[in-house]
Amino acid sequence: MARYTGPACRLCRRAGEKLFLKGERCYTPKCAVERRRRTPGEASPRRRRASEWGVQLREKQKARQSYGMLERQFSNYFRTARRMPGVTGTNLLQLLERRLDNVVYRVGFASARQQARQWVLHGHYTVNGRKVSIPSFRVKQGDVIGWKEASKEKGVFTEASRQVGQRPLPGWVELDRGAMAATVARLPEASDVDTPVDTRLVTEYYSR
Ligand code: SF4
Repeated sequence: MARYTGPACRLCRRAGEKLFLKGERCYTPKCAVERRRRTPGEASPRRRRASEWGVQLREKQKARQSYGMLERQFSNYFRTARRMPGVTGTNLLQLLERRLDNVVYRVGFASARQQARQWVLHGHYTVNGRKVSIPSFRVKQGDVIGWKEASKEKGVFTEASRQVGQRPLPGWVELDRGAMAATVARLPEASDVDTPVDTRLVTEYYSR
């Protein structure tokens, strides 16, 4: 699956807020949003008033970029969310949060979603004891995410052991730090998502 390979910090500066795309750096004063408030490409910090469509577009882009997706994949998620019973925006967030690369990032087994995606692709993680190397794999309640035995001898595991627990853990997963395993205690809700996404605007964007 293709992915965005340009500068990550530019996406945050364009969104005007932190999207936490670069791991530990995002929590330091080196963060580009902290240092340069100006929107990329603008000579002056003044911003023109965005149209209604522009506001919806920006919110959709923010959600899409936060989860490291290109447009086609993201719009497929939206279509799936719309077919599900319940509120489309909440369904969308739940589907995005349940991606394996996101769970790996959320529990601190990787410092950013991009790193999580790469490590999933390299086959370092297991779900219920079986290796899964598909970043979009959708976890369900009761699933246990752990490490492949061979990967525990590698530098990635040492790095993950060092950084796990440094970020707040979302309420829908439980972490056994000693065993380096995480359990999906319940399905995520919109209130569990720390990147503030106005899903109403995203729904309006795709409903035009
Ligand atoms: Fe860059 Fe992270 Fe700051 Fe975004 S939050 S600007 S990715 S350092």
